Amino acid sequence: MELWLEELQLGNMRFGLRADTVLHREVSRFQEILVVDTYAFGRVMMLDGTFQVTEKDEFVYHEMLAHFPLMSHESPKDVLVIGGGDGGTIREVVKHPEVERAVLCEIDPRVTAVAREYLPSVAAGLSDPRVEVLHEDGIKLVQDHEGAFDVILIDSTDPVGPAVGLYSPEFYAACKRALRPGGIVCAQSESPFVNGDVVRRVAQSVKANFSACQLYLAPLPTYPSGFWSFTAGADHELPQDVDKARAERLATRYYTAEMHKAAFALPPFAKALVE
Ligand code: SAM
Repeated sequence: MELWLEELQLGNMRFGLRADTVLHREVSRFQEILVVDTYAFGRVMMLDGTFQVTEKDEFVYHEMLAHFPLMSHESPKDVLVIGGGDGGTIREVVKHPEVERAVLCEIDPRVTAVAREYLPSVAAGLSDPRVEVLHEDGIKLVQDHEGAFDVILIDSTDPVGPAVGLYSPEFYAACKRALRPGGIVCAQSESPFVNGDVVRRVAQSVKANFSACQLYLAPLPTYPSGFWSFTAGADHELPQDVDKARAERLATRYYTAEMHKAAFALPPFAKALVE
């Protein structure tokens, strides 16, 4: 008998992977956590029935979420990641030698524990001595830290449950206060094909608080529609040309200085969502 792992996406679509072995399932205080080995995408982690991380395509998401804003900053010393309990974004953040402190604020300690046990290649960066892992609500943490960070990355779940507030203009206002001058905020902002409302909401929240707002896109085969967006905000123009040698030192598989520049080219249907 074949075992299929399926995500029901927005009520009208399904994405499925043939499963080999179910390794872990639990219901934490916040969500259902499931880890399964699949034939096509390797080991995957689902939260509340939605694909979060797969071994095969996670590098695209984590590299684009971390390196686009960090490479846009001359000297990112203090970096905050909100959500991202699997550790993939932090793994990319600590590749930057300029980073002195990387704080991971993940509300659910079980996500971090499960990732450390079952997804060691993703969670690897969590053991870096510059990393501090906090298990609390990112909304509160940002409110309590004024002028503390150079870059804030929002690696959240979809806008449901404790993540809802991470999409609001008030949260971005708090991020602005938590950033130092020259700081950059960057969030995963869902699919321009099937979550146009979320892409628009994040852009509006960023624009309400920052003078520059840049949407950029990347392919993500296991996320709804296979095409994903990120939104960066700052109070200065974000650079299209970044230091090639600095980018090469990151030893990436998707992000490069050329991909950074290319990210500024947007198809009209996506541009229309944020204008
Ligand atoms: N890459 C993923 C995606 O886009 O599907 C996101 C991965 S990461 C596992 C998302 C994490 O955000 C979850 O583990 C969830 O517990 C965490 N989270 C949700 N709301 C949060 C909040 N208010 N503060 C901190 N973490 C939060």
